[in-house]
This record gives sequence, C-alpha cells and structure tokens, in this order.
Amino acid sequence: MIVVMSQEATREQIEAVLRKIEEFGLQTHPIYGVQKTVIGVIGDDKTKVVETMAGYPGVEQIIPILKPYKFASRETHPQDTVIDVSGVEIGGDKIVVMAGPCAVESREQILNTARLVKLAGGSILRGGAYKPRTSPYSFQGLGEEGLKYLAEAREETGLPVITELTDPRNLDLFCEYTDIIQVGARNMQNFVLLTEIGRSGHPALLKRGPSSKIEDLLLAAEYIIKEGNRNIILCERGISTFETYTRNTLDLSAVAALKQLSHLPVIVDPSHSVGIANLIPAMSMASIAAGADGLLVEIHPNPNAALCDGPQSLDFETFSNLMKKIRKIAAAVGRDL
Ligand code: PEP
Ligand code: MN
Repeated sequence: MIVVMSQEATREQIEAVLRKIEEFGLQTHPIYGVQKTVIGVIGDDKTKVVETMAGYPGVEQIIPILKPYKFASRETHPQDTVIDVSGVEIGGDKIVVMAGPCAVESREQILNTARLVKLAGGSILRGGAYKPRTSPYSFQGLGEEGLKYLAEAREETGLPVITELTDPRNLDLFCEYTDIIQVGARNMQNFVLLTEIGRSGHPALLKRGPSSKIEDLLLAAEYIIKEGNRNIILCERGISTFETYTRNTLDLSAVAALKQLSHLPVIVDPSHSVGIANLIPAMSMASIAAGADGLLVEIHPNPNAALCDGPQSLDFETFSNLMKKIRKIAAAVGRDL
C-alpha cells in the first residue's frame, strides 16, 4: 500500500504519519518527490492504516498496491528511475553501452579494451574478476588482482566499471573498486547476496536467471530495493528454452514488459543471450528498438584466445561498427548514444 501525502503536507505531518504507521508494526519507505511525498507501507496487516489514516492531516490518498513486488513496481513510482553511476546516467534519454571482456585476463588486456570502449563511445567498462564457471576446472578469474586492474582502467579512461559479485563476503572490496555490482544470472535468487547489496546502497545490475519469470526478476529486485537501495538496473540475458542453436533465447518481450511493469532501467546482454558473435549486432539493435536503456556486450582484443566466452566476444572492429549502427537506431527511437 502507498500513502500519498498532499502537495501542501508539512514535514511535521509527514513525520507524524510515518510514526503512526510504524506504531502499527509496519515498515515505512518514504519517497520524497519534488511535488509530493509518497510513503510505501510494508507488512502483513495494513487494515489499521486504512481505518485510521484516511483523513489524517496531510494525507491525500491511500492506494493498495496489487503487484507482489511493491517498490519495483510502476504503481508506486510512475516516472522512470534514472540512476547516476559516477556521472553516467542510466535510464534517461541516453543509451548506455557497457562493454568489455567476459573476464579480466591481464592488465594489458583490460587497459587496451577500456581505451577502445571509450574511443568507440561506450560509457561503462565491464570485466569479470570472480567468474562463476560451470566447471570448477575452468578459469575462475583473477580475483582481487582483476579488481585492481579494472580500477586502474577506470582511473586512466574515466569509465565507470561493472563487475560480478559472487560472494557477499567480498562486498566491501567491491564497493571500493567498482561502480556497479553485477548480480549474475546464477545468483538472481541468492537472497542473502541481494539483501546485503540492498544494505550497501551501491548501484547494482541484476540479471534475469535463465529459468526465471519476469515476476521472479522483479521480486529479486524487491529484495534489494526494500533495504532502501533504489539504484538497480534490470538485465535480460536470455532464458533457457528448447532451442539449442543459440546459447539461450533472448526474450525481447521481457524488455517491453519490464519497462511497463517497473520504473527501473532495463538493459540487454545480447552476448550471453545468443552466445554467437555474429548474431550479436542484430540482437543489440533489436534490443534498443524494443526500448532497452542500454547494452552489456562482451568484447575482446583477440576473441580466439579469450579464456572465457570467446565465441560470443566481438573483436574491436566489429564492436566499433556496431556502435555506429546503434547510434542510428537510438536516434530512430528518439534517444541519444
Ligand atoms: C557474465 O556477464 O560474464 C556472466 C557470467 O553472465 P550471466 O550471469 O548472464 O551468465
Ligand atoms: Mn561471459
């Protein structure tokens, strides 16, 4: 449920309403808008709020929220959320392209990639340092050393960085070294991880699990947002279907649906969606046309030699050409790059 305060409500009236709701044993989440304050109310029995708060000084309206995800829903927050990541806005007019290798492999590899991302017009550098691999014998990432190389690349190029957190015990380290914490598809329902990220307040990109419904993704986002962290980017990265030609099936309908259901920015990872480099340009353009706020793309200076996800990594030339095409699609849908 949300309690909408009137435009004229005073600070004291808002605080009195918050106190009263909390006395009922319910949780409050005030959102102080430019025009009005709305208070999200979470808890099992909200009948007391309905009985006592209608007509309370400063209260304009009490609206039940029907969706199971409350704060991630557009019902609670009709306007788009725009997240500021170290000066880069995500969810606004500009399409945000995050690009980089699947895994940070060496200092030279990530620095060269960062320079190219910047030159081509990308806004954020990606690179995994702690890799969740299906086989325990595959390359697991450089760990903290990888985070340090990413931070050095950020320092040199000014590009914010995104990297995947797999273990909540590393959260402080990630808050220090990275601008966006990536929650991988495998961890979408790691509720301890989500709650800790929520408490940290750090910007997070939440990937959809390969077998998760749209609603499951929004409920996972709710675990972060309910802790007071609204800096969440949703990411469609393909789902498991009967099709085996592509690595996963890119669910573009999820992009359009998420934009309707939620105020949070939505981006597409075409790389893990299809797993085949030469399909990625088409899927990237389609994603922007479908309303995505950005892309997360794997690129590598030498895809054939990549330690992880080489077959889906774009070389620098293909990526630079793709950026030119995306610029045109962005313009066609009234956005910038
Ligand atoms: C990744 O981005 O490198 C990754 C492991 O992706 P996903 O979690 O979508 O499989
Ligand atoms: Mn990868």
